[in-house]
Formats: sequence, structure tokens, C-alpha cells
Amino acid sequence: MSDPTKKVSSIFSTLVLYVLASPIFALKAIGSFVRSYRTATLVRAGFLRCSACGRGNRLDVLVTCPRCSFAEFRSLALPCSECGYVPGFLSCTGCGASVRLP
Ligand SMILES: [Zn+2]
Ligand SMILES: [Zn+2]
Repeated sequence: MSDPTKKVSSIFSTLVLYVLASPIFALKAIGSFVRSYRTATLVRAGFLRCSACGRGNRLDVLVTCPRCSFAEFRSLALPCSECGYVPGFLSCTGCGASVRLP
């Protein structure tokens, strides 16, 4: 025969765990939403300003994937359509400094 109070307490502890974990899930969801929003804004703008020299770097160019060497016309902020590789940065055409992609 099972103890009903034990069962209730185990359900309760599971609930507490969920409640404690929910802010983390919410934060993760918000984080991914902000990231996709930033990417969408960047793709719409079409260029990324270099923080060192202030030059706007065009994003819609012929991109050759460094991982699978697949070349296509797309925004640098978007992942490779062949292997899904996302470049972390691009080299500024003005000063050569690396500009981080969000
Ligand atoms: Zn690729
Ligand atoms: Zn620059």
C-alpha cells in the first residue's frame, strides 16, 4: 500500500522544480527570440557597421562557406543553406578588422 502523503510530496517537489526552472526556460525563449529578431533586422538592413572605422559592410554578397565551400548569394547573417554553418564574424572591407555577427 502506498502512502498518499508521500505521493503528494513527490508531486509537489516536481512542481517546485518546474516552477524553479521556468524562469530559465523563459529566459532561453526570450534569448532565442531576441537573437532571431536581431538577425532579421540585420538581414533587412543589409549591412553591418564596423565599430572601428564606421564603414558599412554589405551583407548580401556571394558567400563561400568555409566549412563545406558551398558558394551562394545570401546574407552573411544567415546560416549556410547546405550545411547550416553560421559565420561568427566578417572582415571589414574598410580596415580589415573582424566585425562580430550577432
Ligand atoms: Zn556550408
Ligand atoms: Zn572597419
